[in-house]
Amino acid sequence: MDSAEYERKVAFRFAAFDQDGNGYIDRADFSAAAARLLAEFGTTARCDKGQALYTGAEALWQGMAGIADVDGDQRVTRAEFAGGAVKRLRDNPERFAEIARPFLRAALAVADRDNEGAASVPAVERALRVLGATPQTAAFAARSLDADHEGKVAEDAAVAAFADYFTVIAPDA
Ligand code: CA
Ligand code: CA
Repeated sequence: MDSAEYERKVAFRFAAFDQDGNGYIDRADFSAAAARLLAEFGTTARCDKGQALYTGAEALWQGMAGIADVDGDQRVTRAEFAGGAVKRLRDNPERFAEIARPFLRAALAVADRDNEGAASVPAVERALRVLGATPQTAAFAARSLDADHEGKVAEDAAVAAFADYFTVIAPDA
């Protein structure tokens, strides 16, 4: 992978976190993501699922800030993300997975509108689209999260895929 391609991959990851597109990642991006998911699935912020989602989003922001906000100004700039965060995430994917797990668990619960115990593949596809994935990417990612082809996405699959996406930006990725 040449450096231009590497930069492009880092830029995609950064944009995925920068939900409001203002050029830096901060707490507002994580609450925006939570609000979009709740609106998409017609869930209120006050119910148990909504509260768990906001709690998970805050934990994910705190974890991201702890890893990437080098100057401690409560914003992760593109330079902070590209310079240190990508490397540190890559060196410690398990830690990042655990930081993301509460948010992902809560997001899957929100997407599981019928309380069937797991989110369906189409629901996960909707969730990814509302968080900014292209229709094609969302469809592909949701399908690949359903490893056993039972039409559902399990928490562990989502956590592993999330950690992989944000940590495996190695030359062979
Ligand atoms: Ca932002
Ligand atoms: Ca900063």
